[in-house]
Amino acid sequence: MTLVPPPFMWGCTSCLLLYAGVLREARVGDGAVRAQLTLAAHLVDDHPEDIPPPHGAGCRVCPGYASAPDPARVARPWAEHRVREHFLPERTARRW
Ligand SMILES: [Zn+2]
Ligand SMILES: [Zn+2]
Repeated sequence: MTLVPPPFMWGCTSCLLLYAGVLREARVGDGAVRAQLTLAAHLVDDHPEDIPPPHGAGCRVCPGYASAPDPARVARPWAEHRVREHFLPERTARRW
């Protein structure tokens, strides 16, 4: 969807610092996933109003969460999956 962070992230110092970490790790190669997880966790914690709705058809991940027997337990990882599209290309964001 968006290749650059959306406007709300530019107004948040934590978002910018964590996003800079994602870009740096993407170049260096080491710790890229950890940096993405850290930013995703921040988005879920501090920007709950900006968590995208569940993806429909075309997402390999969302249907699994949607049919989970214990919705409360998957709410967190599911939200972290959805916020990834704020800072990763859609194809990458929906892979996991
Ligand atoms: Zn933020
Ligand atoms: Zn999804």
